Amino acid sequence: MELLPTPPTIAGSPSRFSGDAWYDPIVQGEAPSRLQAGLVHFAPCARTAWHSHPFGQTIRVTTGTGIIATHTNVIIMRPGDTVHTPPGELHWHGAVPDQFMSHLAMYEQENIAWHDLVTDEEYAAAATRYDGSVGTAR
Ligand code: MN
Repeated sequence: MELLPTPPTIAGSPSRFSGDAWYDPIVQGEAPSRLQAGLVHFAPCARTAWHSHPFGQTIRVTTGTGIIATHTNVIIMRPGDTVHTPPGELHWHGAVPDQFMSHLAMYEQENIAWHDLVTDEEYAAAATRYDGSVGTAR
């Protein structure tokens, strides 16, 4: 076994994220493994662009409150929640307007299919599903 070095935190690219988002790589498996996992940190209102994962993605919220949305569904995510997006499903994820959110992202080494940034209108529409604020019980 081996204690792995902690890689530098990577700033989210402005073409793939709106607002401040940061990625902490955790593991990238050696072939034939396709394992990939990292922690993603979003400031309030920050979110990914629309995208899909060829092999799907599972995320586990570790801190704060988040939003994950498709064109037909919105889920408000709290710490401990786990959300799966199946292969090819177009979606985005990010923090609610008044809290940070971090999630563990688990997926396979793959080419994520990136689409347009989430507009402020799309974000606001999804955020209406969030009726809480800091300290509000679920
Ligand atoms: Mn995703």
